[in-house]
Amino acid sequence: TLLTPEAHLRDVAETVRRRSSAEPEFLQAVREVLETLEPVLAEHPEYIETGILERLVEPERQLIFRVPWTDDAGRVHVNRGYRVQFNSALGPYKGGLRFHPSVNLSVVKFLGFEQIFKNALTSQRIGGGKGGSDFDPSDKSDAEVMRFCQSFMTELVHHIGEHTDIPAGDIGVGGREIGYLFGQYRRITQRYEAGVLTGKGLGWGGAEVRTEATGYGAVFFAEEMLLRVGDGIEGRRAVVSGSGNVATYAIEKIQQLGGTAITASDSSGYIVDEAGVDVDLLKQVKEVERSRISVYAERRPGAHFVATGSVWDVKGELAFPCATQNELDAEHARSLIAGGLRAVAEGANMPATPEAVALFREAGVLFAPGKAANAGGVATSALEMSQNAARSRWDRDKSESRLRDIMRDVHASAYDASVRYGRPGDYVLGANSAAFETVAHAMLAQGV
Ligand code: GLU
Repeated sequence: TLLTPEAHLRDVAETVRRRSSAEPEFLQAVREVLETLEPVLAEHPEYIETGILERLVEPERQLIFRVPWTDDAGRVHVNRGYRVQFNSALGPYKGGLRFHPSVNLSVVKFLGFEQIFKNALTSQRIGGGKGGSDFDPSDKSDAEVMRFCQSFMTELVHHIGEHTDIPAGDIGVGGREIGYLFGQYRRITQRYEAGVLTGKGLGWGGAEVRTEATGYGAVFFAEEMLLRVGDGIEGRRAVVSGSGNVATYAIEKIQQLGGTAITASDSSGYIVDEAGVDVDLLKQVKEVERSRISVYAERRPGAHFVATGSVWDVKGELAFPCATQNELDAEHARSLIAGGLRAVAEGANMPATPEAVALFREAGVLFAPGKAANAGGVATSALEMSQNAARSRWDRDKSESRLRDIMRDVHASAYDASVRYGRPGDYVLGANSAAFETVAHAMLAQGV
């Protein structure tokens, strides 16, 4: 006889716990999804019968490889490379590469797992995957980053392709790294297969608005949530963490829509700029000069730098965590709520801890989980793939308006599912159940 949804979910959670006891981030991401799926399974017993969840929580394939490279002084270093090809029911594996010392199998698996759901929500035909390395590009020369990327691709080339698996950027992987990776792919394969990587330069196959898309998209999602309750971005104070392309372009869009983004941060601390962050200066400091965020405060009258505590000590009506996983905890959530917080949109992946998310939901704060709020980046990657396949190039207006429409649709599917399953406005439930239904439907149709 068939297990009840509750017993089935307990079984799956137990299996994952047993297999992944040393993978805390992955367990956290799986648990968060399983906790919301009971009503979906109650409606679809066929998903229990066909083991959709058991199959969904186990990656289709996990690659771990050695990445040897030589530094400028001639010394050899070895890093570890990863690519987790998680689920391909909806399309080829799609997801970024993260280069950061904190990268390990648990981190890559959590990101890959989230990517399945995020990608499903975009309605583009892409499966979920993720990769990266514990390499730290931040203190390396250009030439070292190039040699590392070439070595990384020398192995990865065997596992990717425009119909197989399409990597892109994430933390530590931007336009520079994608360029070096693509160059090596092209040399080894002797193919100009533009659609094998996304986030390429605008002059050689890249898409307009891809760099901006994750940050812009998170603000569009927040705008949709706010509009639905008769509120908006205009006139609101926003606290933003991070200073990479997600944070930078979230700040830019907040200000274009009449809000004021007053903070940005990096691993050394954060800046507060009550007049609103100057995006050009932020880009100059972080992207062009690759300096610490404190340099921003040195050059901007009225702004100050804080080296201790957290950017989440600053109060605002809107919060956009755009740095990294588990950066915003229960204590921060309490102080933000006490400070009059109305909405949170996760620009990063899983930046709020489960305790913080629970507090936001209890307090009635609008909360957009990353897999919905930051889906604009990967959605625009899929648009880049379409343009590559058609050998075409869209202009900025068309690209941004497609992104705007996609984010409106992501919001609508998450909201509609939250209504269908009895908790209107619960975007965690809505995003997880809408995405799960899409993936499960495809897996069921394609057999075991
Ligand atoms: N790394 C981004 C994400 O977390 C983008 C992935 C992509 O464009 O493939 O969704």
